[in-house]
Amino acid sequence: MRLKDKKVLVVGLGASGKAAALLALSQGAQVRASDIMPQPPAAAELAAAGIRLSLGGHSPADFNWAQLVVLSPGVDHRLPEVEAARRRGAEVIGEMELGWRFLACPSVMITGTNGKSTVTTLVGQMLAQAGFKTLVGGNLGTAVCELAAGSAGADWAVLEVSSFQTDTMDRLRPQVGVILNIAPDHMDRYPDFAAYAASKFRMLSRQEGDDVAVLCADDPNVWARRKMAPALIWTYGQNGPRRPGGWLENNEMVLAPGGEDLRLNTAKSPLPGGFNRLNLLAASLAALACGAPPEAIQQVVDSFRGLSHRLEFVAEAGGVAFYDDSKGTNVGAVAAALEAMDRQVVLLLGGRDKEGRFTGLGPLLSRRALRVICFGEAGPAIHRQVSPFVDSDLAPDLATAVAQARASAGPGQAVLLSPGCASFDAYDGYAQRGEHFQELVKEASVG
Ligand code: ADP
Repeated sequence: MRLKDKKVLVVGLGASGKAAALLALSQGAQVRASDIMPQPPAAAELAAAGIRLSLGGHSPADFNWAQLVVLSPGVDHRLPEVEAARRRGAEVIGEMELGWRFLACPSVMITGTNGKSTVTTLVGQMLAQAGFKTLVGGNLGTAVCELAAGSAGADWAVLEVSSFQTDTMDRLRPQVGVILNIAPDHMDRYPDFAAYAASKFRMLSRQEGDDVAVLCADDPNVWARRKMAPALIWTYGQNGPRRPGGWLENNEMVLAPGGEDLRLNTAKSPLPGGFNRLNLLAASLAALACGAPPEAIQQVVDSFRGLSHRLEFVAEAGGVAFYDDSKGTNVGAVAAALEAMDRQVVLLLGGRDKEGRFTGLGPLLSRRALRVICFGEAGPAIHRQVSPFVDSDLAPDLATAVAQARASAGPGQAVLLSPGCASFDAYDGYAQRGEHFQELVKEASVG
């Protein structure tokens, strides 16, 4: 893609927008950038680089001027200004699409409602272990537009892709694409569930030839849409045989990409939960599709300890185990965490509502949860939904919820923060909420 002298408008100035603006500038484009915040963090640096900024709102003149509009994932692609630019004939793409056009190496892309960061990190480590020069980023860590600049000489880019990023894809084509699962999430950004699910498959729509789509057969929402993947499909799931693809047998993963089956052992994996066995399988298939040898994959399976705030064991105090699953920000993730627990659980749910339907958790709560403590902005609404199924309390905030949970949990039981909501009612993000939870647990254990 040639950007020289092209009029490029970047909308949204978080890390992705900043990377897009700097990439366009480095390619000789005329660049403007716009954000509804009056002082986004990147403003000073972009202004110093000579980029004209519109802050505190979007200016229609910028959208009229632009030949190419690049959207950050946080910006809704249905904004009226964006629609108007499209009608005028401007090309509208997302930051990931732009970055991909400048990537000098093949890519593996991973999307799904839950497990993206875990699987992206696993695949990145497996490819690095195999000796490939590997870049890792996208929705996790470094933006693709920033990775692109250093991609000459790289063997693979492993990219986490959110559905906001699939919404604005166009020509992008991953050599290997993975869809882990599709459960209701972000329903405030989509007209309906079908639109959200279809958006995930956009990532695969340009695949061709020997490109591989790794699809989860156990997820009915993925499975029902498999015909939307146009190239080779490797399916995976709990049960087999599945050829080409993979399945689980006791402590083994069977990988069957064609030719002889390979067997890898999961007994040493420190990751908790059945869902993580499927994450390991998806990652192993993706790494195999990229050419990683089984020995390199096995080494990572044996050693990867998981990311923070994903069903992370925090401490045991008075016989009660505390788990931090602050990244569990939708109902599907809460269900996976509950299924993974081998003890009765006091569950902390709450935060900022994303239109999650907690009534769907009812039967699982009745089986696994001793009590649910609902906290934060969404606390009262969640309390109304879960109280027919399980004993439940309301707490104004996380600190009170932790104190109440400690009072209700006994030896042999667990306290699980898997909030099923965003954190922005009280925190900067899931990580800050998780850190706070861990501090509260540790303070109380000492005190
Ligand atoms: P994402 O990047 O998609 O948010 P993460 O790997 O950060 O995924 O995990 C987010 C949450 O989803 C965590 O609470 C984790 O325990 C849960 N989770 C991870 N993998 C799965 C899976 N395959 N199915 C359901 N839940 C999962």
